[in-house]
Amino acid sequence: MVGEASPALDADIAVIGAGVVGLAVAERLAAGGVAGGTRRSVVVVERHEAYGRETSAHNTGIVHAGMFYETGSLKHRLCLEGNALLHEWADAHTVPLRRCGKLIVAVEPGDLDGLERVWERGVTNEVPGMRHLTPQEARALEPRVRMAAAVWSGASSVVDQAAYARSLESACRDRGVLFAYQHSVVSAGREGGGFVLGLRDVDGHTSTLRVGAVVNAAGHGAPAIASMLGFPLDGDERTPILRQRVNRGRYYDFADPEWARSVSRPVYPVPPGSSDVQRHQARAGGLGVHISIDVDGVAHLGPDTAWMPDASPEGGPMDYRSVDEGREAFLAAGRWLLGDDLRAEDLVPGQVGYRPKLVTVGDTPADFLIFRAGDYVHLGGIESPGLTASLAIGRYVEVLLT
Ligand SMILES: Cc1cc2nc3c(=O)[nH]c(=O)nc-3n(C[C@H](O)[C@H](O)[C@H](O)COP(=O)(O)OP(=O)(O)OC[C@H]3O[C@@H](n4cnc5c(N)ncnc54)[C@H](O)[C@@H]3O)c2cc1C
Repeated sequence: MVGEASPALDADIAVIGAGVVGLAVAERLAAGGVAGGTRRSVVVVERHEAYGRETSAHNTGIVHAGMFYETGSLKHRLCLEGNALLHEWADAHTVPLRRCGKLIVAVEPGDLDGLERVWERGVTNEVPGMRHLTPQEARALEPRVRMAAAVWSGASSVVDQAAYARSLESACRDRGVLFAYQHSVVSAGREGGGFVLGLRDVDGHTSTLRVGAVVNAAGHGAPAIASMLGFPLDGDERTPILRQRVNRGRYYDFADPEWARSVSRPVYPVPPGSSDVQRHQARAGGLGVHISIDVDGVAHLGPDTAWMPDASPEGGPMDYRSVDEGREAFLAAGRWLLGDDLRAEDLVPGQVGYRPKLVTVGDTPADFLIFRAGDYVHLGGIESPGLTASLAIGRYVEVLLT
């Protein structure tokens, strides 16, 4: 357990990574809040020039409600808790958040079974605010969307990710958290019951950081850091599988403002012909191309899913440039939801994001991995709904390190 900073240490805890998860963890640990009452000195180490430059800035921004996840999984539990916490946080910190709800739709009668399974999972998962809509109600909400039936998710919202990350960083600073931006963790070892991290700045200068505990919230870079500490990425009797793969998600935007405003809330089609929503997602790597809405009410299509070649040893950084390489597939997905009026020239390539996906055995859907070994905490596979769950993950880690 971590106590007062010893004179031999630079800080009690290093959090590696200033995405929304690392920031939420750092804020909780520095607050010494619910779990123990001990305030601890925390330093966040981040390779970029500022917070939220990787996955936390390249995602859909939906505050998920929790009907898609395996019952009892960390994704399920932390999504539900995180959803409530994020709504409270946004109110308290004036973070723009659009309480628009979400529609899950059976586009054609053949999808009704799939919709029913999402509904049943939502009920089992105790997701608040869900109800079946009559076809008239659904059409009144989204007249442009093709659907045979729909389920309403009232607890789903859209958050301004950048404003949220900014509010977390600011709350961290208020708690006295220190930030080492433009510093990459390039080595890590154990020393005298604590840890010594080797850092390299953008000019190539190296330095060391001695801390009592490490929280690895490095997203795509998490396995590389675990390796530095000697953990086997493929697991052994004491270590779960830590290896991750990268799954790209691209978006297309609507060139025409009329299309961009044609839908008012996120619309998720159930995976067509899928006998099991979770297994379908596990294979495909995402929830399937859907209509998302940003916090300004502008509609986008995506994300799609594509497995990438194995990550570089450092786990990124990724190439976030948008390329026009999926127009036909996006047009088909867009027409499936919005009808054949949508033309190829109505679409333009949008943002690109990368999911850090934990490698699993067989068809098992990947869960979040929160693994503690002594004073080391590993956050692995923090893909969607990681933005939603971030504040709940912060609390979870706070309890683990108490
Ligand atoms: C396409 C897509 C859509 C998504 N949509 C949603 C959604 O609608 N709702 C939702 O809840 N979630 C969504 N997510 C998931 C969500 O974006 C992530 O779960 C969340 O942003 C993860 O945050 P993080 O802090 O763990 O990771 P990151 O934001 O990636 O932060 C990790 C940080 O660690 C740093 N780092 C890595 N290695 C090192 C090192 N060696 N030294 C120093 N720093 C290092 C990186 O630079 C990075 O800043 C989506 C994700 C994707 C890809």
